[in-house]
Amino acid sequence: MKRIAVFCGSSLGFSETYKLEAEKLGTYFCEHEIDMVYGGGKIGMMGAIANAMIEKNGVVIGVIPELLEHEEVMHDGVEEMIVSKSMSDRKVIISKLVDGYIAMPGGFGTMDELFEALTLSQLGIESKPVGILNTNGFFDHTLAQLDVMVAEGFLKASNRAMLIVSDSVDDLLLQMKDYREPIRTQIIDKVVR
Ligand code: AMP
Repeated sequence: MKRIAVFCGSSLGFSETYKLEAEKLGTYFCEHEIDMVYGGGKIGMMGAIANAMIEKNGVVIGVIPELLEHEEVMHDGVEEMIVSKSMSDRKVIISKLVDGYIAMPGGFGTMDELFEALTLSQLGIESKPVGILNTNGFFDHTLAQLDVMVAEGFLKASNRAMLIVSDSVDDLLLQMKDYREPIRTQIIDKVVR
C-alpha cells in the first residue's frame, strides 16, 4: 500500500494514549514510505499524526472542505492541501487518492468516514481494506453493535468480516496488506460515484 487515508478525531481525547498511538501510526507510515491522506486539520488526533509525520519528512496530503479552510483548523505544513467544495466531496476526493483506510478514535466525523468506506466496500464499489486501530478498546462498543446487526439480520456476516481490527499498528498494517475482498454471492451492479 502506497497511500492510506486516516480518519480520526478533531479532538485528542482524555487519555494521552490516543495521541501517542497517532504518533506511532505516523511513524510507521514514514518508516514504510506510506503517504497519508487525511482531513487536513492541525487540531486533535489529526494534528498529532500529521505533525509526527512532517517531523520525519513523511508525505502528508490534506483534503479539507472550504468551510474549514481557516487558520485555526487547517494545517499549513503539509506537502499538499486539496480544498473540496463540501464535506461529501471531500470523501470522494480522499477515496480516489488512497489504497486503504484506517480509523482511529474520533467522534461523528470519524464514524461518518469509516462507515462510508465500509458501505462502499459492501456495495462492491471499492475493494480497499478498511481497518480500525482499536486503541484502548475505544471501538469495542462499535464492534459489539456490528455483531448485533449481524445477529438481527441487518448486516451480512461476510460484510462484517471485511472490517479489519487490531490494537497494534504493525499487526493492523500486516492484516491490511493481506486483505482480500469477500467473494460475493450475488451480483451487485457497479455503481459509479
Ligand atoms: P470528529 O471525529 O467528529 O472529530 O471529526 C474528525 C473527522 O471529521 C476528520 O477525519 C475530518 O475529516 C473531519 N473533521 C471534523 N472536524 C474537522 C475539523 N475541524 N477540521 C478538519 N477536519 C475535520
